[in-house]
Amino acid sequence: MKIFFKSILVILLVNFSLAAQDKDPIIERIITEANENSQLERLGHELLDVIGPRLVGTPEMKQAHEWAVAKYTKWGIAAKNEKYGEWRGWQRGISHIDMVYPRKRTLSGMQLAWSPGTSKKGITAELIVLPTVKDSLEFAKWLPSVKGKLVMTSMQQATGRPDYNWEEFATEESMKKMKENREAQTAAWRENMRNTGYNRRTLSAALENAGAAGIVSSNWSKGFGVNKIFSARTKKIPAVDLELEDYGMLYRMVEYGDKPQLKIVAESAELGVVPTFNTIAEIKGTEKPEEYVILSAHFDSWDGATGATDNGTGTIVMMEAMRILKKMYPNPKRTILVGHWGSEEQGLNGSRAFVEDHPEIVKNVQALFNQDNGTGRVVNLSGQGFLHAYDYLGRWLEAVPKDISKHIKTNFPGTPGGGGSDYASFVAAGAPAFSLSSLSWSYWNYTWHTNRDTYDKIVFDDVRSNAILTAILAYKASEDPERTSSEKSILHTNPRNGEQRTWPKPRSPQRKGGLD
Ligand SMILES: [Zn+2]
Repeated sequence: MKIFFKSILVILLVNFSLAAQDKDPIIERIITEANENSQLERLGHELLDVIGPRLVGTPEMKQAHEWAVAKYTKWGIAAKNEKYGEWRGWQRGISHIDMVYPRKRTLSGMQLAWSPGTSKKGITAELIVLPTVKDSLEFAKWLPSVKGKLVMTSMQQATGRPDYNWEEFATEESMKKMKENREAQTAAWRENMRNTGYNRRTLSAALENAGAAGIVSSNWSKGFGVNKIFSARTKKIPAVDLELEDYGMLYRMVEYGDKPQLKIVAESAELGVVPTFNTIAEIKGTEKPEEYVILSAHFDSWDGATGATDNGTGTIVMMEAMRILKKMYPNPKRTILVGHWGSEEQGLNGSRAFVEDHPEIVKNVQALFNQDNGTGRVVNLSGQGFLHAYDYLGRWLEAVPKDISKHIKTNFPGTPGGGGSDYASFVAAGAPAFSLSSLSWSYWNYTWHTNRDTYDKIVFDDVRSNAILTAILAYKASEDPERTSSEKSILHTNPRNGEQRTWPKPRSPQRKGGLD
């Protein structure tokens, strides 16, 4: 028995040393640094907890840009903030939404982005709901009655339980009934909205012009306690979002005739017109400095929470990959550039500006890797319609440890992304740009643009795996003896309408936004 064990041990040792010889020492060092000296938690804390949300035009966005440049500088990586436009300057302040009648209670809700503020004293007013009307004439007749009132503009939800919770516990009959009721209620709500002569977009302005004191809405994200927080559509009066639970309670109070009143304090500040930036950092190439491997992630966020998974995680993946590359691969063959784009959320503005302003870089892109759909490990990689992407992406992926690459489903040649995140700005310009697409971790309902997109939702093991993947792909793209092909595949017809798909066209950014 003893002898038997010994011989196995010898065989194992031989195998191990053979395997070790196969391994690329730079890749080994990248993995060790990522696992044993990870900076992800600290970066996440500094960016999300301390700086906070990064809405375009806010001082926090500016602070984040400065923080990133300081980090890169400390790591010995040349970095700068590149101005590309201007936006309305605005900053959130202290805000409170309290029910003051028929009983007192502080509510869960928040001022929408760019909503006009109130004085420190705030406003106190009665709530009303939209009437059921047969046509726009009837609605116009009702409109003056909003004067001095807070108008509730969202449909009351039929249930505060997400569907998965119903599916787990409801009887088949009650589940079916709930869904049918909800569909009927939603259809009736839509029809009534059409009857008013307004839509969600134009209604706020009409109410504001008719003298409403404020707008109260609720944009439920179909998960427990989670709402999406976007921007206000008012110019003078405050617009707030209330969580489903409080919104529903108040709605029932209005309908039962309890005449609830709210006090809203929203001390935001208008800051005029401010510059907008991209943070750009690079490790210069030694052999082919004019060719670029680009790491890409938008830096801005909505401000319902701290933008942890949209796109704090993409941001720290790219920063960590750059830090590790600088340490373990300081003299890349090609230039490795990272772009932390501004104002992605308003239409890929930062990356579109970069593409427009730097044709000399865009035409020399070896590969771009963008990450922007949450904290999950990368599970999808599409060739974005580039005919030969399977060849080089496939080769680079082979260098990635199996425990990371085994999760990734590739799709070649794939179809070119027309939007959704910043890689699309480069794809449109014909540059081989790819999306490192993550496992969802309930992104769409629970964190994307919500009031729950916070540090605690980050799954650091997955993020670490993404930083390793990104660093290795960047290393392999930089070292590749060949320049990548950006030849486009012939696109298929769209199965929905039978039309020939065409390659997306580059679009200009909004260089001056948020202002009328
Ligand atoms: Zn995003």
